[in-house]
Amino acid sequence: MGGVAFIGLGNMGAPMAANLLRGGYETTVFDLVPEALAAAEEAGARAAGSAAEAVADAEVVISMLPAGEHVHELYLGSGQVMASVRPGTLLVDCSTIAADAARQVAAAARERSLRFLDAPVSGGVGGARAGTLTFICGGEAADVEEARPVLAAMGKNVFHAGPSGAGQVGKMCNNMLLAIQMIGTAEALNLADAHGLDPAAVSDIMKASSGSNWALQVYNPYPGVMDGVPASNGYQGGFLVDLMVKDLGLAMDMAGSSHTATPLGAAARALYTAHSAHGNGGYDFSSILQFLRGGKLG
Ligand code: NAD
Repeated sequence: MGGVAFIGLGNMGAPMAANLLRGGYETTVFDLVPEALAAAEEAGARAAGSAAEAVADAEVVISMLPAGEHVHELYLGSGQVMASVRPGTLLVDCSTIAADAARQVAAAARERSLRFLDAPVSGGVGGARAGTLTFICGGEAADVEEARPVLAAMGKNVFHAGPSGAGQVGKMCNNMLLAIQMIGTAEALNLADAHGLDPAAVSDIMKASSGSNWALQVYNPYPGVMDGVPASNGYQGGFLVDLMVKDLGLAMDMAGSSHTATPLGAAARALYTAHSAHGNGGYDFSSILQFLRGGKLG
């Protein structure tokens, strides 16, 4: 496998690109933020002056951008990626975007004899750093197999969910569940705290009981209970409230278009939207605990 181009070096993309380098892949990177680009260059990547330049010689292009409009702009707009890659290049978008938006970019790729996978990830910034992400892929099975070794350098699970867009559908269902679970965990810890229990002790109790879940195990929302998580670092970094608001909006669009009942997803969206409206969109999503407590962040 030849070179990989990696576009989007944010909270997730930077550690993912670092793992590609560790895995021995020649990696050319680009981000609109010069500091992000310089940090990746420092880590051993080749920095390009534009997305078009980054992808020109790549066999595989990976993108990790905030939302659908950025992905569209990168591949089909001013980023000029589709116009700049070699024929046959495999394009892998790991951003979380609407399934329909992913299908549109995939269709545009097919028209140009290119291959496109939607491959959103789960596992958070910790998983990106540790190289233990889960990739949820939508597209052709053969293309997933071709991407597998590259994805395996950044993650431990690579699932093929179905045709184009299926990766995004799977990801949205997961993130709706994650939001519900995080709010529930914050609610339980806050209630325990209000009744005088030590949040660390009650976390241990619930982890060994039927309420155990991912937030309790690796992403505790109560400050100081767990080292190395955003809650113990002023809710900095991690997965931003505004990205969760975006994902819950996409999940609710899916629920609306299929007439599917998602009452807890709707409640989670309302809570996270209110949290963002209070000026907290730039904090990690586990900060919902502080919203329940009526506390101000920042
Ligand atoms: P981020 O905002 O930290 O990073 C996005 C990066 O993309 C930024 O550095 C930005 O400058 C860059 N960018 C935007 N448009 C660009 C363009 N046209 N060309 C080059 N660079 C461009 O976001 P993130 O937290 O890394 O998340 C990225 C995606 O992964 C989102 O879709 C998010 O929903 C998803 N995701 C995030 C997490 C998490 O824990 N942060 C977990 C799973 C999935």
